[in-house]
Amino acid sequence: MQERAFALKRAGKTISCVPTMGFLHQGHLSLIRAARASADVLVVTIFVNPAQFGPSEDYRTYPRDPERDLRLCRQEQVDIVFAPEACDIYPDGYSTYIEETDLSRWLCGANRPGHFRGVATVVTKLFNIVQPDLAYFGQKDYQQSRVIMKMVKDLNLPVRIEVCPIVREDDGLAMSSRNKYLNPEERQEALCLYRALSRAEELVISGEYSAAKIREEMEAVIGQEVHSRIDYIEIRDGKTLEPRDQVGEGTLIALAVFIGKTRLIDNLVIGKVPG
Ligand code: AMP
Repeated sequence: MQERAFALKRAGKTISCVPTMGFLHQGHLSLIRAARASADVLVVTIFVNPAQFGPSEDYRTYPRDPERDLRLCRQEQVDIVFAPEACDIYPDGYSTYIEETDLSRWLCGANRPGHFRGVATVVTKLFNIVQPDLAYFGQKDYQQSRVIMKMVKDLNLPVRIEVCPIVREDDGLAMSSRNKYLNPEERQEALCLYRALSRAEELVISGEYSAAKIREEMEAVIGQEVHSRIDYIEIRDGKTLEPRDQVGEGTLIALAVFIGKTRLIDNLVIGKVPG
């Protein structure tokens, strides 16, 4: 892949990249479509990255369907699919990691120790291998996108990061490969994340800016579902991820909720997503 990327670069081609863990859905396809138009060559990477899963998390059971993924990539006219094995990326004796130490501390970072270290490491490696001019990420994983933007800035990585909006099912559930884990009852209950965010948005529109009050109302919405357990509901600055008492332009409202055993995340930015 790296040799191919260098050859493309020598020929004056630009490269865009969409990193994924596969089991592609419309959220991934929206990134692929945005990336398609932006460069000469589009590379999609498919790699379930063991380094970003905790020991008790779902690395082994994470949904995989490589044939379907390849079919979808072909349909979307992806030029190259890079789908390495874990032993290609982390051969025996692998011992180098990248860690962003500020934005990674909060939210998902607090409850998934090592997660963003795994993400930052694999994304750096993928960038070095694929040599993209542009790389596309989803707002669905808001904190991930901020950590990557910060890492790119701090390490002077020569790649532009683009963040695309959250793609949802018709009823509002944010698309995610992990939605596959939900049984029909849980699938219904999973709507509480979107409902809680919609409630938060309504409150803000009606002039309620108190983070405490908004969080309380969101907790009440989530609490109505029998199999729900809140991991976090956070109201933070969309850029620094620092806590905010008052909601305003560029504030992030993010939540992680277990529905049964499945942990789902979703978020909303008030006004424009900060650059
Ligand atoms: P994943 O395969 O879950 O690691 O996701 C790969 C990329 O797709 C990440 O940048 C995600 O943020 C993005 N993504 C996942 N779900 C969605 C969604 N529902 N809408 C937009 N982007 C998404």
